[in-house]
Amino acid sequence: MYHKPVLKNRRTLLERAEKFISDTYFTDCNLRGRLFGDTRPLESISVFQSEKRISYSEAIQQDFLPCKFGDAFGPTWWTCWFRVVLKIPETWRGKEVHLRWESDGEGMVWRDEQPVQGLTKEGEKTSYILTECLKDSEPHSITLYVELACNSLFGAGQGSMIAAPDPNRKFTLQKADVVVFNRDVRELLTDFELLVDIVKLLGEGEQRGYQALFTANEMVNLCDPTDNSSFASAQSLAQRFFSQRNGESQHVVHAMGHCHIDSAWLWPYEETIRKCARSWVTVIRLMENNPEFVFTCSQAQQFQWVKSWYPGLFSEIKHFVQKGRFIPVGGTWVEMDGNLPSGESMVRQFLQGQSFFKEEFGHYCKEFWLPDTFGYSAQLPQIMKGCGITRFLTQKLSWNLVNTFPHNTFFWEGIDGSQVLTHFPPGNSYEMKGKVEDLINTVKNNKDKGRTNHSAALFGFGDGGGGPTQLMLDRLQRVRDTDGLPKVQMSSPDVLFSELESDSALLCTWVGELFLELHNGTYTTQAKIKLGNRQCEALLHDLEVASCLALCRRESFTYPSCKLQELWRLLLLNQFHDVIPGSCIEMVVEDALEYYDEICTTGSKLLLAACESLVSGSAQDVGSSISVLNTLSWERTEVVSLQGEDTQTKLALVSVPSVGIAPVMETAEPAPLVSITVMVDGNIKMENGLLKVVIDRTGRLMSLLLVQTNREAISEGSLGNQFTLFDDVPLYWDAWDVMDYHLQTRKPVIEVIEPAKVVSSGGLRGSVSFTLRISGKSTITQEIVLDACCPYIKFNTQVDWEEAHKFLKVEFPVQVHSPSATYEIQFGHLQRPTHRNTSWDWARFEVWGHKWADLSEHGFGVALLNNSKYGYSIHQNIMTLSLLRAPKAPDANADMGRHNFTYALMPHTGSFQGASVIQCAYSLNFPLHLCHGVTSESWSAFTISSPSVILETIKQAEKRKNALLVRLYESHGSSVTSILSTSLPVQEAWHCDLLERPDPSVPISSAASGISLTFKPFQIKSLLLIIQ
Ligand SMILES: [Zn+2]
Repeated sequence: MYHKPVLKNRRTLLERAEKFISDTYFTDCNLRGRLFGDTRPLESISVFQSEKRISYSEAIQQDFLPCKFGDAFGPTWWTCWFRVVLKIPETWRGKEVHLRWESDGEGMVWRDEQPVQGLTKEGEKTSYILTECLKDSEPHSITLYVELACNSLFGAGQGSMIAAPDPNRKFTLQKADVVVFNRDVRELLTDFELLVDIVKLLGEGEQRGYQALFTANEMVNLCDPTDNSSFASAQSLAQRFFSQRNGESQHVVHAMGHCHIDSAWLWPYEETIRKCARSWVTVIRLMENNPEFVFTCSQAQQFQWVKSWYPGLFSEIKHFVQKGRFIPVGGTWVEMDGNLPSGESMVRQFLQGQSFFKEEFGHYCKEFWLPDTFGYSAQLPQIMKGCGITRFLTQKLSWNLVNTFPHNTFFWEGIDGSQVLTHFPPGNSYEMKGKVEDLINTVKNNKDKGRTNHSAALFGFGDGGGGPTQLMLDRLQRVRDTDGLPKVQMSSPDVLFSELESDSALLCTWVGELFLELHNGTYTTQAKIKLGNRQCEALLHDLEVASCLALCRRESFTYPSCKLQELWRLLLLNQFHDVIPGSCIEMVVEDALEYYDEICTTGSKLLLAACESLVSGSAQDVGSSISVLNTLSWERTEVVSLQGEDTQTKLALVSVPSVGIAPVMETAEPAPLVSITVMVDGNIKMENGLLKVVIDRTGRLMSLLLVQTNREAISEGSLGNQFTLFDDVPLYWDAWDVMDYHLQTRKPVIEVIEPAKVVSSGGLRGSVSFTLRISGKSTITQEIVLDACCPYIKFNTQVDWEEAHKFLKVEFPVQVHSPSATYEIQFGHLQRPTHRNTSWDWARFEVWGHKWADLSEHGFGVALLNNSKYGYSIHQNIMTLSLLRAPKAPDANADMGRHNFTYALMPHTGSFQGASVIQCAYSLNFPLHLCHGVTSESWSAFTISSPSVILETIKQAEKRKNALLVRLYESHGSSVTSILSTSLPVQEAWHCDLLERPDPSVPISSAASGISLTFKPFQIKSLLLIIQ
């Protein structure tokens, strides 16, 4: 049957087929050259340019000016609205006709007032189908609008993708015409392309590759590009090849359409709204023509945007959600960073996300979906399970720089023992193209071959949006069961995970965090975003606590539930995986800081109102009477500053009960006050009965003594509080990466501008301040503070930072010997090694933690606390906190300017648990609040009998005005039974999950003094308390 002779020359046959479909060579006579038929110019094209993103209805009322091909538009971030008038000739009856559009930028076609199709060259979408088969009854004269965003899929980086955007970039319209599209040529091209790829990728070792080679070659023989009637025989040859089936044991690839859209990154939030619309409307068009096409889509925030801005499109999406084809996944508000958000923030990501999905689409997501995030907290499995999710999909660990993660499908176990079934698509991408290469990689890279026979393949342009194309669908359709390739089925996460669950006996378990060995600078970059996040997390916590107390104490008080939802959603949005990590452009940083400002301003006002409801009378009525609110679940005795009548700050030592209020009393001063001595050598000694510290003129700790045991915390011959500067030039990902070799460039900061001098001379507070020069323009001014009764020493730090590619840290060499250090994470902590034995150990030279890290040996340890930092490293006995970086891409001004932050050092006897390090770190982050007004006596809303249990959250229950939700967790890593007592009028109580669904299967166990709760290590428990 084949044309003869067929010579044994693989190369010429292969290249012959490649040239037959090349878009570069021989297009005058090859098949590719026949893809388009007759063309007609547009009747007219005109343009209106806008600096702002405006609505369709506003745009079409503007004055449009004539334009021509080759014209340049912009600059960057502007929008061009094109009015396109076209006519389809009647003689094209029966043909498929496209509007062909080639331009820079990202386009959206509007027709009859509706968005109908996204257009981007980068996303391989350059035509809009006007008709699939022209009929006389169809309109032949059509007016369309094309809304063109002056940015590419990946923003407008100057020179490289991640460089800061070029504000002056121009965008060109290269081509727009009406054209006959030869669908049968497209089909045949797809056949050829797949066959050529099979030949190349299966290589010379596989017989199947040769079968593909001879098939493709014979198809060239049979096919005359000028004669469409010759195509059928070629096509049937391809068809025969593709339909030669696999055996039963072949691997199954679950193909799912996907479009990863970063909620902000190299473009601002506002553009993302349009990216969603452009990408998703294109998905809807594909769904109309491809009945099996399934698309997975994450991030409730993006759905919310489309609902608000594109209601027509949203109802089309809803239609396909109901059909199970447009599948919401993930369950979270945004695809958040997996390291930095607090435990409660992570819960709210799910609470806001899942509630949105349930309300809009009728059900919760069953899979957590976070393919592109820079590491995954070991507390996530428990949080997922509490939110109704037992399955997790990601792939980012394939980016590890040092170690290859050993599994693709496995059980992931968190710090409390919760397990979730986890799948990393073995193709190591969330934006495949449905090509042979993707399918082969999915099988080849799979590290659980033989244990499981199913894998996911997510296809569609991503990061900047774009999504799947018809071509990707056509490819996958052809090779559903083709001998030599894995089987392919259009699938859904539910089908995939059900298959994995049904046959999971051989799967391995990974315990602890999924640490990404890359992008470790993201714990530090954009310090103001980190500070904003930490402060706003604390503010919303305090606001909820105060509002709940006010709700129970004052009938007239209205809980600000709508406002709180708004503020939480802003905070959650900024936790997106390119915003809180600091890997975004300057425009995004500005937006993020504005959102934090809004949370602070509105939140503070609401907090003040709640506090006023808790005390009687306003400040005016009762003069200078002041009460203090403690939102944490243990009694606190601390020094607070009272705003005096004059400008002088007055200090007071107050004791406030757990989750309660106390009046500020003019009590007798405590026995051990702070004393300060300037010694003859100029060094300064501060002591408060608990700690004795000696500070040199450079502000470094020469000694830090724990008085009770006379134990020195600073390592012999070393100095604590040593600032150090490192060169910080990564290999590529500037804002993201700090590389191991930066450690070889350490330089201590020792140039004194102002030597240490006493600022507060003792009593309730002693403090010492000094100023150092980091380099030409950068300086550090620090106040070292020791308060009466306080077990830690505080470092209030101000840095003026004007650096390029430098990394500032502070070091504490301590007298502790231990092979591992402890770091706080969400609702708990974990250990990491202090040595570099193996590649897995040294790959963690820069790690993340939350409010504290601790290095302890038996009986003694030192904790390093902070109020806004996340980057740590503890190597041998040196505890280091990462303070500031100075990357130049994608934000050329990242972190330049003034920064204020606080860290603290706390030596302790016994264990960090026994010494209340966890509570101290909370206290540093959740300062006591002053309320102007009288409270007659101390009052406490909640107490917990065990110091290991922390009452993390008190809020009004979602949509239940008469109920409070309280959330507690075991923080020591111990099994414990604890009694929660309350003075609030609680009528009944229920256990519930993190989505606040009551769980009647676990009855409340009442004790005489309250509710008895039994915790396993790091267990999170939520209760609904019904209030009278
Ligand atoms: Zn991303």
